[in-house]
Amino acid sequence: MHSYSSRIEGFHKQAPDDRLRLVAERTHLDAGSAAHFADTGNLPLETANRMIENVIGTMSIPVGVATNMIVDGRDLFVPMATEESSVVAAVCNAAKQARSGGGFVTSTTGSLMIAQIQLLDVSDPETARIKILERRDDIKAICDAKDPVLLKFGGGFHDLEVRIVDGARGPMVITHIIVDTRDAMGANAVNTMAEALAPSIAEWTGGRTLLRILSNLADRRLARARCTWKAEDIGGTAVRDGMVEAFQFADADPYRATTHNKGIMNGVTAVVLATGNDTRAVESGAHAYAARSGRYRSLSRWEVTKDGDLSGVLEMPLAVGLIGGATKVHPTAQACLKIMEIDSADRLARIVVSVGLAQNFAALRVLATTGVQKGHMSLHAQNIAIMAGAAGEEIDAVAKKLVARGTVRIDIAEEELKTLRG
Ligand code: NAD
Repeated sequence: MHSYSSRIEGFHKQAPDDRLRLVAERTHLDAGSAAHFADTGNLPLETANRMIENVIGTMSIPVGVATNMIVDGRDLFVPMATEESSVVAAVCNAAKQARSGGGFVTSTTGSLMIAQIQLLDVSDPETARIKILERRDDIKAICDAKDPVLLKFGGGFHDLEVRIVDGARGPMVITHIIVDTRDAMGANAVNTMAEALAPSIAEWTGGRTLLRILSNLADRRLARARCTWKAEDIGGTAVRDGMVEAFQFADADPYRATTHNKGIMNGVTAVVLATGNDTRAVESGAHAYAARSGRYRSLSRWEVTKDGDLSGVLEMPLAVGLIGGATKVHPTAQACLKIMEIDSADRLARIVVSVGLAQNFAALRVLATTGVQKGHMSLHAQNIAIMAGAAGEEIDAVAKKLVARGTVRIDIAEEELKTLRG
């Protein structure tokens, strides 16, 4: 362990290569690792340096393309950015089995985001609530004045809600401004409006405003997908029934639901990331929505149709945009949008929710039949082979041996690599 001070005066003002040099010096980083950071691949260093603070380099994540997807009658390739093996393959498989049924049908509730303003120190919260609601026209004017560009694109203030929430130190009056953010995810847009509005709320009510920030529980911005898989396409009625039983387990038990929803997010997050959108915003919204009944449940629902086929539906908040954040800035995100020929945030949300449903189908199917480990074997074996030191053609050779032996373990991989190298 090298002991060093992590305090560097003015570090944030340095150029990325100077920062890297400073960090490398203090940590005694080897030249190879330092050179590795300096290679920023398909994200120019100047761009990266403007996206976040204290940049020293970039990190590449594989982008795979899901095939076979039909969303609202249109075939498309879906780029997915993920570090996890089997995620892309799972979508391809699920989408392939859905093709004879016509693929995925989607809908959305529009692009409404919520920002909250916290009001404290009011002795008469019920009256304060009504006073705020009376000011709807003023509130609309204050909000819309902050974003004429958004207005030009058909967005802006949409609705007003005021709730009384019991806090540990008494009631708080919480104003929700509901704003149509069109093709933007909208965090900055609504935060700006909430900050502009807060002083007026304090003045009208005589209270004290504190937080002014969007809610990631974007339950006015839901995306929905439904899809029917023909029983004969998925291995018959026993597989179908097993999948419904697997869903029922997830819906009844939070321990299972967490993993079930994680599977959905494997697909959702991969498309959200590939398009430069905020993965944490979508993830926090999804999990909060899954718990909206007071118990954490499955985001998807599965049932048998009257024709004996399997029907799956997924409904979740999906705050994604084509503008703002990294979406416009990251060249890979722009290229991914081009592959999908996306012209609206609404269409992107529809594709994302469809991928989430496809991912969920694939996970339920494999869990209700062979179990996950069998399918993971081959890619997992390749990773283990690399960990054991295999390079180039050795990777496949060692991985095949591991799969054939039915034991994917680092010590076995090392043994096989030794044998291979004679
Ligand atoms: P933004 O402010 O960069 O862009 C949105 C603006 O673009 C709009 O306000 C509008 O003025 C303009 N615009 C131009 N054309 C538009 C169109 N067709 N539709 C809509 N607006 C158009 O970005 P944003 O979407 O407001 O904010 C997103 C960023 O905020 C993300 O990077 C996210 O990570 C970050 N963020 C998230 C949180 C959170 O989720 N809790 C909090 C703060 C910031």
